Order: sequence, then structure tokens, then C-alpha cells
Amino acid sequence: MVKSISILGSTGSIGTQTLDIVSQYPDQFRVVGLAAGNNIERLAEQIRQFQPEIAATYYEEKLPQLKEALADLPELPILLAGAEGVAEVARYGDSESVVTGIVGCAGLLPTIAAIEAGKDIALANKETLIAAGPVVLPLIEKHGNKLLPADSEHSAIFQCLQGVPDGGLRRIILTASGGAFRDLPVEKLSSVKVEDALKHPNWSMGKKITIDSATLMNKGLEVIEAHYLFGLDYDRIDIVIHPQSIIHSLIEVQDTSVLAQLGWPDMRLPLLYALSWPERIYTDWEQLDLVKAGSLTFREPDHQKYPCMNLAYAAGRAGGCMPAVLNAANEQAVALFIEEKIKFLDIPHLIEKACEGFSGQNIQNPSLDDILEADRWSREAIVKASEQLDRKDSLISLS
Ligand code: MG
Repeated sequence: MVKSISILGSTGSIGTQTLDIVSQYPDQFRVVGLAAGNNIERLAEQIRQFQPEIAATYYEEKLPQLKEALADLPELPILLAGAEGVAEVARYGDSESVVTGIVGCAGLLPTIAAIEAGKDIALANKETLIAAGPVVLPLIEKHGNKLLPADSEHSAIFQCLQGVPDGGLRRIILTASGGAFRDLPVEKLSSVKVEDALKHPNWSMGKKITIDSATLMNKGLEVIEAHYLFGLDYDRIDIVIHPQSIIHSLIEVQDTSVLAQLGWPDMRLPLLYALSWPERIYTDWEQLDLVKAGSLTFREPDHQKYPCMNLAYAAGRAGGCMPAVLNAANEQAVALFIEEKIKFLDIPHLIEKACEGFSGQNIQNPSLDDILEADRWSREAIVKASEQLDRKDSLISLS
């Protein structure tokens, strides 16, 4: 049985690794739709190779370039552009599963379109759930779709949970590699550069998530993601630093037994499971060799050095729109850092100010519009605050 899938963010890290799986296992998967941003050359190559029925670029102005790049094809797929074009790819045709690999909150609306069209979601875009958990989860319930985690930690938890009865889960232990600066003394963090932050020790990922790993905000965001996916309170979700990234996360069940999922750090594994669940597909990928892996070590995360984790726990506990504010603040601050407009340590500082500034207006059970508005507010607050960074005391009020 060939499974039909569509991929949002097809030219990014998640998208290309998913297509790598499709090209290795063409008897298992078929591509119905592809959506990408501005990498038109790669999107055109992908369309030639995988022959989807529909494709879109997020950028309206790039559509002529895409059409031109494919002009010699005897038969063109439906070609669309803009946010609505991407949403159309998400809901189009007979795809059973949509892989959401669009970075950031931009993935939210097409993910909602896919859910409303009855597709299962292979969730590689954690921001969708973090910003809009209170809207996405009831929608999933209403439409009866499956939300299958493709984030490696959440895939590990999900894999460990197979066979655990309802109510059996007691605690989640998320593992963290520690990111690019795990061995750097805290006093050196103030002077690190963008290129330093982009060197991830274990995983090959996109820019934004690699910076998030260096600040450990990625792990903080994953705590919120785990809360929404698996329904545990925040005080039952822990983080442990595990530099080798061989154990991808663990669960503790009611009797204190602990289950873990292990493997080489390779995003294709959680992606494949999100697509094949509940089946297990044979692969010829390198098998885990524990002797070669050597020692597996663990240590406590340093909350002084990495304040983003505590900011995420606090935003998660505040609930409502606050995770959306945290997430948007982080996206905006990371973008400013990549543009070299702010320093590394400004990232947590600005996010904290945005969350503080919003706390008086937070509401529980927000609508999608409330969430989008909180997202917009937060990005604006970060930009404003970043422009005032030299004058330290002007940061105090953001509201
Ligand atoms: Mg992860």
C-alpha cells in the first residue's frame, strides 16, 4: 500500500529529509503536494523528481520564476503562490498525511487547513502546537485526525508510550544535547557570534532551530509541546542534558519503570515513524551500535546559564496566549540575532520583557484571532525593545 503525503516546507531540512525517505522507499510513499518558500530552484527540482499534483511557493512574486523553471515539462502540476496557495497544498487531494516542516508560526494556518481537510499531521513544526495548542487540540479532536510527532524527543516519548495504558504515564524526561555552547563558560556567552551558535554538535537542522538549541529555548519549547501532546502537568516534565544524543527521550510510568528510545541522531527516523505509524518499515540505515556509541552521560541543565528554559516553563504554566507570545518573541529575537542586530544574551532578555509586558493582557481559552494578535503584539514588542537596547532602563515598560 502506497501512502500519499504532502510536504509543507519541502526545501528545508525537514522537507528534504522527508523526500529522501520517499525516494528511498517509493513503494511506501507517494508525494501529492509540495510547498516551499523562496528556494525556487530546489522546489523546481523536487517537482521534476517527485511529480506532485500540486505545488506552491509562499512568495507570490516567485511564481513566475517557478513556472519558467518548469516550462519544458509536458505536464505541469497545479502551481499556486502565497499563504492561500500553501494552505491549498495542505488541504489538497487524497494525501493521507501532511508533513509540516515550515519553520515558525507561519506553519500554523496551513496546518489548520490540513486538519480541517481531514489529514493526519506529521508534526515537525513545533511552533504550531506551542503557539496555538488551545485551538489546534480541540480541532484535532473534532475532526478525528492523528497528530503524530516528528520532533525526535516527542517521537521517542510517543514510541515509548505504545502499549502503555491510559493513565500509565507518570513523568516525561526530555533529553537535550546542550547545543553549541554546552562546554563554554557562562561568562563567554556575551560575546558569541552567529556562526558559533550555528555549529550544532550532533544534529543537522535549520538555522532557527540550531540557534534555539544554543539558547536551550528549543528544549523549553519542547516542554510546552510535550505538555500539549501528552497532557502532563509542567511539574511532571523534566529536562536532562545528554551530550551524546543517543537516548532521544524517556518516560517514567506509574510503577517507576523508565522506558527510553535510542538511535543515532538522524531526523529521518522520527519522520519515518510519523509517516508509517503504527507500522514499522524495514530500513537499511546504520544500526545502533552501543559499543561504538560508548558512554552515555547525563547532567543537570544549567538554568542560570540558559534562562530560556525557565521562561518557557513560566509561559507554559501561564497558558492561554502566553506560549504564543513566548514563541513569537523568540522567533523575532532569533531573527534579529541572525541579522547581527542583537547579541546572544539579548535573546532571553528581550523574550522575558515581552512576556512580562503581556502578562496583564493574557486570556485563557483564546480564539485563533487572539493567538494571531498575541503573536503580532509580541513581534512588535521585540523589535521596539531591540531598538532601545542601548538605553537599558527604557526596556522596563513594553506594554
Ligand atoms: Mg527536538
